[in-house]
Amino acid sequence: MSNGVNEEGMDKYLRLAKELHMLDAMLISPQKIHFDIRAILKCRWGCEGFSDENIRCQSRGTTYPERVEMVKKYSHILLVHSHDARELSEAVLEIEKRAFLDGYYFAFALRTCNLCPNCLLKKGNACPAPDRVRPCEQSFGIDVYKTVRNLGFSCNVLLNREAIQNRYGFVLID
Ligand code: SF4
Repeated sequence: MSNGVNEEGMDKYLRLAKELHMLDAMLISPQKIHFDIRAILKCRWGCEGFSDENIRCQSRGTTYPERVEMVKKYSHILLVHSHDARELSEAVLEIEKRAFLDGYYFAFALRTCNLCPNCLLKKGNACPAPDRVRPCEQSFGIDVYKTVRNLGFSCNVLLNREAIQNRYGFVLID
C-alpha cells in the first residue's frame, strides 16, 4: 500500500517506534490525513473532559484553518499505533525529541495527553508536566477513524471498557 512519502532517511523513526514497543508505525504525507470539522464538534460537545481551561483541550488562540495549515506544512508524518494510550503518549514525545535532536526543529507530536494513568486535571489538580502536553488530534479536526482505516489499520467504536483499544498518534517530523 502506498503511503505517499519518500521514506529514505526516515526509516529510523519507524525502528524507533518499534523499540518503544509500538505495534505499528507508518510514514505518511499530510494528504493522507483526513480532516473533518465534525471532529471538533465531537470534541467540544461530545467529550466529557472538554473545558476551555483544560490544558489538554486548549487551541491557544489558533483557528481551525490555521491548525489544518500547520499540519499541511509538513512533508513527513509518522503515524503510530498502540493498544496502550499511556505508552503511546510517551512514545510520540520520545520520537518528537529524537527527531528534534536530529535537526528536524519543527518536529511535533499530535496526541491527546494520556501521560498520567488518571489525568490529574479531572480532580482539579494542576498538571505536573504542562510542557509535555501536546494538542489533541480531534481539536485539529483530524478524523482518526477515517485516516487510519484508509491506511489499512483497525479503528472501531468500543462497545465496552474491556474491549481492546486501538490508539493512534502522530509525529509531525519535517
Ligand atoms: S500530564 Fe497528566 S495531568 Fe497533565 S494533561 Fe497529561 S494526563 Fe493530565
